[in-house]
Amino acid sequence: MTTPTLSFDQLRASLSGDLISPADAGYDQARAVYNAMIDRHPAAIARCRSVADVKAALEFARGAGLTVAVRGGAHNAGGLGVWDDALVIDLGPMNAVTVDAGQATVTVQGGATWAEVDQAAGAHGLTVPCGIVGSTGVAGLTLGGGIGYLSRKAGLTIDNLLGAEVVLADGSVVTASATEHSDLFWALRGGGGNFGVVTTFTFRAQHVPSVLAGPVLYSLDDAGDVLRWYRETLPAQPRDVNGWFGILTIPAGPPFPEELWNRPACGVVWCCTLQGDEAEAAMAPLRAFGKPLIDGLATMPMAALNTAFDPLFPAGLQWYWRADFIGEISDEAIAIHEKHSKLLPSAGSTMHLYPIDGAVHDVGQSDTAFAYRSAGWSAVIVGVDPDPAMAGALRDWAVAYQEELHTTALSGAYINFMMDEGSDRVRASYGPNFARLQQIKSVYDPTNFFHVNQNVPPK
Ligand SMILES: Cc1cc2nc3c(=O)[nH]c(=O)nc-3n(C[C@H](O)[C@H](O)[C@H](O)COP(=O)(O)OP(=O)(O)OC[C@H]3O[C@@H](n4cnc5c(N)ncnc54)[C@H](O)[C@@H]3O)c2cc1C
Repeated sequence: MTTPTLSFDQLRASLSGDLISPADAGYDQARAVYNAMIDRHPAAIARCRSVADVKAALEFARGAGLTVAVRGGAHNAGGLGVWDDALVIDLGPMNAVTVDAGQATVTVQGGATWAEVDQAAGAHGLTVPCGIVGSTGVAGLTLGGGIGYLSRKAGLTIDNLLGAEVVLADGSVVTASATEHSDLFWALRGGGGNFGVVTTFTFRAQHVPSVLAGPVLYSLDDAGDVLRWYRETLPAQPRDVNGWFGILTIPAGPPFPEELWNRPACGVVWCCTLQGDEAEAAMAPLRAFGKPLIDGLATMPMAALNTAFDPLFPAGLQWYWRADFIGEISDEAIAIHEKHSKLLPSAGSTMHLYPIDGAVHDVGQSDTAFAYRSAGWSAVIVGVDPDPAMAGALRDWAVAYQEELHTTALSGAYINFMMDEGSDRVRASYGPNFARLQQIKSVYDPTNFFHVNQNVPPK
């Protein structure tokens, strides 16, 4: 372990938040991340309460020669919010959310979760486009792009980002927006945690009073037919209609009918942002397809949809992740999905295809760091189970599935769905935007101080 030349007591004294070291009772809880497959032992965890705390922690790490890991919601697949022997800058206590209902903007501190944003914005009939699980951190999801139910209607999360306050590697605090440090603003929109610690995000919010949403699930035997129908049908829908395709096991508990518990299935989780009769009319033909086992569509607030999966996926499970961007769902790919869906290693294991469509395509490939604007879908394959003894089986299934699917896929993947697949894969995921990211990294973080991430080294 690196021995800091400065004493942690000095840092502890300068923070308004807590500094947790291995000797402290709360150390194991503070170092744990969402994915229990990750078991890292940092030198200390600075639970920051203010921008001044973040600056003090960065300055200390620089002086002590410590690696820094930055932690938002701690959901990252590869556990990049924590690192062995590092000083963790944990923004968890910085989770304030402020809504300006008149301007339809939402300002969020860097440690907030999406559930906190959903709740605050939802009280005003507003929502910020985000992901499908409320306990996910705003920071990591946003910095990687942000794919979710509103992507077709309003774009990625980054397409709704108006500005960010960032503490840079040298300790200075800057605002990044279309008019200030616009190069940094470009890089933050997809470039991950490479450029500094984001202490505040400001988003444009969407008016979505309610959604008609939920799963329509089919027998796994119907997966081929459903996928062939889905690949044609989804892109033809209005942007108010979104639906991601999934292979999953029907959860063993209410509201699912008992006779279907633990049954492997496939289906589409729909979200329609039209209101009332218009929503019913838009969804009626989609619900009429095939012979569903379950039609779980209901009218609900966006915040309810955004947190609907949270109870199924509590923190502390084993997760193994693989991902790809998909151009078209080919017949060959459908055969691969049919094959591997029959080999699900556990009830939590799942494959999702999220549409990269509609408003996501309105933004050009070089307009933000997120490069795969023209992809059709973002695929994620996750082996999930509570039992650590299952880790190998989860990994083997996800790897075999993705390696075969990759033969039908584009070269890169969504960085927020990747574990550690090496620098070539990161480069492929940024495509032609990689060189510009490197150049901006050279300006804002020339020593690669922030390297615990899907790393873009400076030029
Ligand atoms: C159950 C689950 C569901 C998901 N669903 C979706 C989804 O629907 N759509 C989607 O797009 N993604 C989804 N994701 C992926 C998610 O976007 C990533 O896991 C993301 O990294 C989580 O961000 P975090 O802040 O929770 O993670 P953390 O582990 O805290 O951090 C992730 C990365 O971001 C950096 N970082 C964190 N906070 C900051 C900050 N304030 N400033 C600078 N860098 C920072 C970290 O250093 C690290 O490199 C999901 C993940 C999980 C586990």
